[in-house]
Amino acid sequence: MQDKCSFCGRTRNEVNLLIAGTDGFICDDCATQAYDIVQEEMRGKSNLNLDNLEVKKPIEIKSFLDQYVIGQNEAKKHLAVAVYNHYKRLIHKPGNDDVEIEKSNIVMVGRTGTGKTLLARTIAKMLHVPFTIVDATVLTEAGYVGEDIESILTRLLQAADYDVEAAEKGIVFIDELDKIARKGDNPSITRDVSGEGVQQGLLKLLEGSIVNVPPQGGRKHPDQKMIPVNTKNILFICGGAFDGIEKKIAARMNSMVVGFHASQAIEKIDRENFLQYIAPQDLKSFGLIPEIIGRLPVLTYLEPLDRQALRNILTEPKNAIIRQYIKLFELDNITLKFDEEVYEYIVDKAIEFKLGARGLRSICEAIMTDLMFEVPSQDKKEITVTKAYAEEKLSHVHTQKLRA
Ligand code: ADP
Repeated sequence: MQDKCSFCGRTRNEVNLLIAGTDGFICDDCATQAYDIVQEEMRGKSNLNLDNLEVKKPIEIKSFLDQYVIGQNEAKKHLAVAVYNHYKRLIHKPGNDDVEIEKSNIVMVGRTGTGKTLLARTIAKMLHVPFTIVDATVLTEAGYVGEDIESILTRLLQAADYDVEAAEKGIVFIDELDKIARKGDNPSITRDVSGEGVQQGLLKLLEGSIVNVPPQGGRKHPDQKMIPVNTKNILFICGGAFDGIEKKIAARMNSMVVGFHASQAIEKIDRENFLQYIAPQDLKSFGLIPEIIGRLPVLTYLEPLDRQALRNILTEPKNAIIRQYIKLFELDNITLKFDEEVYEYIVDKAIEFKLGARGLRSICEAIMTDLMFEVPSQDKKEITVTKAYAEEKLSHVHTQKLRA
């Protein structure tokens, strides 16, 4: 008798693949269908168990962040509190009294390369709930080239292995929020592809509503079955550089300090770092709609990185760039050392080329590439990188190339 699939009855000739079991066979088609059924069924059952969760206290969360991110104490504090409260809200079972704890979405403003994404990625390492990072630049209104707002939730669902209940308690980091700000102050007649329409869409998610999410994302699968996701308990953390917002802050502060105490107040303002005075109305002047700002009640900022911060970033964090090179060489049984002045030199160059923290890596790469290429084939046991060597290597590189 010819082998055939125990599910659909087709014979070996009629299918691509027939897998044998102890008592029968299954064909590739039926196996795929069975897998889909299992996925569908599992969606309803949550694997997220918050009952025995050991929640870290805000101070512990901050010390964890300290291991990877230099400085940025204000932002770290706000993040730690927000994440801690997020857990408390999830664990808290509403009683009779009943105070409902509302979520506090966050917005972090800081120049590019100061650690916003790094903070988000680091916090993700210690979370017990699904977490995803999405970039707001790709979002557009439905009907335009780009991604629908709902794709944010598709990512979260994927991070939660399609466990809807778990995704509904997750955290989303929206990077480059400033890119969906309205350009210019008067709402134009022509449609604003990546501006207000996207903000309205995002508002729906932030407010807490039931959103139909395409499980595969995108618009390429028009017939996929939508999954309803309730966003009420999803915590949103947003980040953005908001280039030029300092001017708006300065303008607001200047108009504020006219009057009796004016001269005194002006003196106290730290003109090097206006971001520390950021207030919700500055986000509005930048082009975010008030409703969105209202849904992001925690507003915090990241400091510009000074010399000392850049110097620390090179060697201090748990996975600091220099530590990574040392580890790479160690795997080849080679001890790699750097003269102290090399660090100073790298920092000087990063500042000179206005590259910030992002530049540290590209400068290091320029210095280290030849060594990484040659040394594994030599039988050296120890290498010391000197300032003269670093200068020589960097002199061959065009600064344009260093811009990450
Ligand atoms: P942003 O999101 O603010 O534009 P990133 O977090 O992507 O900046 O930072 C770029 C890189 O610079 C990071 O991957 C990290 O290597 C380094 N970096 C930036 N800020 C810090 C910081 N405060 N502490 C440690 N490393 C940092």
